[in-house]
Amino acid sequence: MDQASFTEICLHQLKMSAVHEGERLIVLTQGGDRLDYADAFMAAGQRLGARMYHLRLPAPPPAAGWNVGVTGLAALPDAVEALKNCDMLIDCVFLLFSPEQFAIQAAGTRILTAVEPPALLARMLPSRELREKVEIGAKFLSDAKTMRITSPHGTDVTYKLNTYPTVAEYACTDTPGRWDHWPSGFVFTGGDDDGVDGKIVVAPGDVLLPQNIYVREPIVYTIEKGWIVDIRGGLDADLVKSYMADFADPRGMGMSHVGWGMNPDAKWHRMTPGEFPGGMGMEPRSFYGNVMFSTGPNNELGGKNDTACHLDIPMRNCSLFLDDRPIVIDGDIVAEDIQMNRKHA
Ligand code: FE
Repeated sequence: MDQASFTEICLHQLKMSAVHEGERLIVLTQGGDRLDYADAFMAAGQRLGARMYHLRLPAPPPAAGWNVGVTGLAALPDAVEALKNCDMLIDCVFLLFSPEQFAIQAAGTRILTAVEPPALLARMLPSRELREKVEIGAKFLSDAKTMRITSPHGTDVTYKLNTYPTVAEYACTDTPGRWDHWPSGFVFTGGDDDGVDGKIVVAPGDVLLPQNIYVREPIVYTIEKGWIVDIRGGLDADLVKSYMADFADPRGMGMSHVGWGMNPDAKWHRMTPGEFPGGMGMEPRSFYGNVMFSTGPNNELGGKNDTACHLDIPMRNCSLFLDDRPIVIDGDIVAEDIQMNRKHA
């Protein structure tokens, strides 16, 4: 995408995030990464009369894999103070799950994460309709006391929902202290610490993140009182178990967030190296009618588990019920208030 077009989609984003004259925005980047994102956001924000700054952190030392919640900001308290003092932070680094992000939000700064490839940002622009439907979905979820997920492959798991808040992601943010991620389009919460029981069968075509692969053979998770007690299957199960063992942290066997995807612009089939090399999987997290569970930390929701061992697993063809009310059936949203047109489906 050329820089002028990139600036245009960033302008759309900042308008959807209600950026206005005189607001102070900081675009955060790191090393040589995403400097073109900073340029596009700076130009867009200037057109809205905002006071734009670019804060560029030094390149991080080489690290193996994704250590959730560990960021270069931890060693730079002055930078954290600057971010607490602005109105909106555009995070092109990926601060999610870090204590620094929580502190910045608590100070009233709203945060938008933008790290996916520009072509994907362009294809999954925020819209008023997506926001409206996602907010209704979030209300359904926050009102519910139980979530049950089933699938033709044998998934049958129940989450008790009496503890954690619901999070809505609709890819823009105009609320002080609120975080969102562009692109997105889904809702989630977490089960009670001892309140997840049953079996989840991850089926062929379901997605493992951060591995960014489609599963080829079923992976069977057995869950008791909020903890995974068994993972079995073939090669894909071995990959998951080997990855998790590497963290040497039994809290990786906890149950993390759970919810469903609502964005018709997101496509299940697009997570291929030829399409978006280097992407981090917001498209498979968001595709319309997916049901996503995840394992590991729940501190994002206010829980005690802050393990760095985290997998997100969007699944197709599942059914999801809130207090026995059908929300998703066989991978399609059936709750009328939150249905959206599946364009080009
Ligand atoms: Fe996650």
